[in-house]
Amino acid sequence: MTQLSLNSRDSQLNHVFVMSTDEYTTVRLPKELMDEIDQIIKHGTMGYKSRAELVKEAIRDKLKTIPQTPEPPQPMLEHFNLSEHGVRILDRTLANGMSRGKIIDVYFKPEGVWCDYCQTSSCRHIQFALTVPTIQEVIIKKRREGWKLP
Ligand SMILES: [Zn+2]
Repeated sequence: MTQLSLNSRDSQLNHVFVMSTDEYTTVRLPKELMDEIDQIIKHGTMGYKSRAELVKEAIRDKLKTIPQTPEPPQPMLEHFNLSEHGVRILDRTLANGMSRGKIIDVYFKPEGVWCDYCQTSSCRHIQFALTVPTIQEVIIKKRREGWKLP
């Protein structure tokens, strides 16, 4: 009988423990801070009935004042739409009030590479394009076919 009740107590404790790891976590607070909280609860100030209630509300209020973590900075140049005819590059340095960047077409042609935006065969868009491994693969392939690519 004693054994049985012990077992049942154990399983209850275990159950509580499992729940606490799923949905709750613990934080240790300085005793003096907790004493202050206990005083507020004792005096019934603002109707707080438990430490948890007050602490949760205090933290929620604090979280509202903390700015959201900013997104990591995005690269100034980014490529997409790669084909044998060329590649499109998003240039975020050309962002304005209307857009977050400008899309630049860089063309691969038998006579060379061409930036439609800069109207040249040598600019930072082309330089960037030449550093991207997947673009290099296309260029190497077309160069083997006799195209005058850098
Ligand atoms: Zn360019």
